[in-house]
Amino acid sequence: MMTSARYIGRFAPSPTGPLHLGSLVSAVGSYLDAIAHGGQWLVRMEDLDPPREEPGAADRILKSLDAHGLHWHGPLCRQSQRHKRYDERLAELAGRELTYACHCSRAQIRRRGGHDNDGCRATREEQGPSAVRLKCAGGEEHFDDIWHGAQHQAIAEDTILRRRDGLYAYQLAVVADDIDQGITHIVRGADLLETSGAQQRLFRLFGAAVPQFGHLPLVMNPGGQKLSKQNQAPALDDRRPSANLVQALGFLGFHVPPGLEAETPEAILHWATARWQRHQVDRRNREPAQIAQTGTGH
Ligand code: GLU
Repeated sequence: MMTSARYIGRFAPSPTGPLHLGSLVSAVGSYLDAIAHGGQWLVRMEDLDPPREEPGAADRILKSLDAHGLHWHGPLCRQSQRHKRYDERLAELAGRELTYACHCSRAQIRRRGGHDNDGCRATREEQGPSAVRLKCAGGEEHFDDIWHGAQHQAIAEDTILRRRDGLYAYQLAVVADDIDQGITHIVRGADLLETSGAQQRLFRLFGAAVPQFGHLPLVMNPGGQKLSKQNQAPALDDRRPSANLVQALGFLGFHVPPGLEAETPEAILHWATARWQRHQVDRRNREPAQIAQTGTGH
């Protein structure tokens, strides 16, 4: 067991469908990294976008985590109960004149160079709802990712903080939550690597410490797409949690001994926590069938 003074990690699923193997890899990777460092592992339900949610998915995800022995510390955080906090954070930025109302579609703002260049001010009288964007003024954000190393991300577009439909945007909510939950390590799927620079910018604007980022490999389908709820990735079968965990561990580079699958989920996670080593995770995105050839061995 490695030790560290303070580590608070998290898993933050969106309830757009049940967990699949790719989400299990993120859950297990973030769990093992936190627990192996003597840290805490929190779960946050990102139920911020009701139109995209699947009824019952949030409960199903929580039951699935439980069935896989992935028990979180402390109370569950639900974004749907934190709108007041997001209002406060938005007001804080608006009070510092760091926001503007924007009527542009994504294509329009890109054509305008991605940043507030008075284009929106000119159309402020335009009818219809507007989004709220952060005045980013471009520039780059630099950080070291646990698995992807040095990152230099250009802030190519003013970050949306509240969408045109009035819903809070992911970037504002996730940063507000990570700050309030005292998250020190953000370990999640590599599809979110590109969002990290904009998030780092927000952490800094709020005067908060920036967590360590770590982006885990994605499980791909045979068509070369990331397994996702949108492309109908099969839901995890909660009746065989040990087999699912062994598959996720194989993907994360563990050489799992024969017989481990017969153990309880808790015993399997205990076994893996004692052997977790970051450098043995292969950061390449790949299909589960390629696990055997790429596992480097914990
Ligand atoms: N809710 C996001 C998702 O399910 C993850 C957010 C995060 O980990 O920062 O893709």
